[in-house]
Amino acid sequence: MRSTMQDVPLTVTSILRHAVTVNGDRTVTTALGDGRYRSTSYRELGEQVARLAHALRGVGITGDQRVGTFMWNNVEHLAVYLAAPAMGAVLHTLNIRLSPEQIAYIANEAEDQVIVADLSLAAQLAPVLPMLTTVHTILAVGDGDLTPLQNAGMMVIRYDDALGGRPPEYDWPVLDENTAAAMCYTSGTTGNPKGVVYSHRSTYLHSMSTCTTNVLGIGVEDSVLPIVPMFHANAWGLPYAALMAGADLVLPDRFMDAPSLLNLIGTHRPTVAGAVPTIWNDVLNHLERHPGHDISSLRLVACGGSAVPRSMMEVFQNRYGVRIQQAWGMTETSPVATVAAPVPGVSDETAWTLRASQGRAACGVEVRIVDDEGLPLPHDGKAVGEVEVRGPWVTGSYYLGRDEAKFASGWLRTGDVGRIDPLGYVTLTDRAKDVIKSGGEWISSVELENHLIAHPAVLEASVVGVPDDRWQERPLAVVVLHDGHQVSPQQLREFLTDKVVRWWLPERWTFVDQVPRTSVGKYDKKTIRARHADGEYDVVEYRD
Ligand code: ADP
Repeated sequence: MRSTMQDVPLTVTSILRHAVTVNGDRTVTTALGDGRYRSTSYRELGEQVARLAHALRGVGITGDQRVGTFMWNNVEHLAVYLAAPAMGAVLHTLNIRLSPEQIAYIANEAEDQVIVADLSLAAQLAPVLPMLTTVHTILAVGDGDLTPLQNAGMMVIRYDDALGGRPPEYDWPVLDENTAAAMCYTSGTTGNPKGVVYSHRSTYLHSMSTCTTNVLGIGVEDSVLPIVPMFHANAWGLPYAALMAGADLVLPDRFMDAPSLLNLIGTHRPTVAGAVPTIWNDVLNHLERHPGHDISSLRLVACGGSAVPRSMMEVFQNRYGVRIQQAWGMTETSPVATVAAPVPGVSDETAWTLRASQGRAACGVEVRIVDDEGLPLPHDGKAVGEVEVRGPWVTGSYYLGRDEAKFASGWLRTGDVGRIDPLGYVTLTDRAKDVIKSGGEWISSVELENHLIAHPAVLEASVVGVPDDRWQERPLAVVVLHDGHQVSPQQLREFLTDKVVRWWLPERWTFVDQVPRTSVGKYDKKTIRARHADGEYDVVEYRD
């Protein structure tokens, strides 16, 4: 029997239409630095989006051609998020923090035609331009100097000039919901970046999921602050979810340092924010040293991208009343796949254990763990295997069919290793590539890091496996101390003794000023291992 329901496609266009018509008075605020900001209503945003679509047509964008962005989190970036997909083209967010070679490789592979770029990033973009093979036009946002972009033989037009005089409405085409809306490359933490192509449908469903109570519960009373860059898995889908929910958006532009973020939170009072743990750790550290900031507006902070230390969540909750909600996902999963909200009726201690896990699958996503042969393992909280996922917002392949082995079973092999308990909570012990194998047994770097960061003297901690003559591999702890604090490897080992088994205790320690970070702000273990191999770290060895 066929259903009698109307066949209305799930598209970014319908998110745009809803935001503009039903919630036209809601606002997008973009920070300008020094406490200044500019505000745009959703109605005005809709007009800007229409003008941008005309402008993109005007410079030759047709069909499903790719429109790259090289931008911070701001209202113009949001306009491209909407205009490119709604006109049938494809939004392609470029990661501004990759090397020029990597950026060029990604833009060329995706065959970007136009790049919308912030002029504040001209210095980073200029060295990329001579390497680009398909880009013919740059739309330059802001009123900075165009000269750095003008010598590569491309058209460079100011964004405002390109939009000037264009009509404020656009006859949006009816699109097949399974066509491409956006693409994003993995940030390459563990290998070469690979392209993921999101459909209109996957974007729509992911946004809806994000708005449900069990995920982030974003609604019309919220004001959402995506600190996670709009080039990192589309800011975790927060902009689309906010538009769908009719929530206000607060965008930090390039002002991502802890003092600027705290000022923005104090003045604009967002209720929901999202960023990786290193950012929240920086924010917390600044808060503790400079009391007086008001972050009480935040009812929920989404945090993921790497494991979220329980100790950090506890301080936010107990001292500032701010709830950090851990979520797990990947560029490949749009990204939100699991969310760590505790089930009701459990003790406080169990609730904290559940919050410190990577969480349970959002409805629509299935999660399992498999052994080395790909056979499913029990969800008994003990068996450890590679995590696999599937669902309507999980990619079924990479762009151009790269790395097919990741999809062989019909599930996505995530490269993450962990266990799943009978309630469905996933706990990751490591990324497959970061696993420390000592004498044939696994040591969880994630667990060691989470315990170390709970030490009052420790500001940052990352643990990697390094070669060892006797055990093949042993952990090296890379530690940053709070200003004015001192602690010895022996004291840190003692601190860990009742928390992990004895043979996990690192005997190699190095104290540094900052743990290297990846382009999206995670601890960069590839670089740590390389620095150690090159003898750049002063390593203290301690055994007892
Ligand atoms: P990249 O793979 O280049 O780092 P992504 O941002 O897509 O780019 O990374 C996804 C990976 O981030 C996951 O496979 C996982 O290893 C890690 N990750 C994401 N969220 C969490 C979390 N809550 N806890 C631990 N690891 C996480």
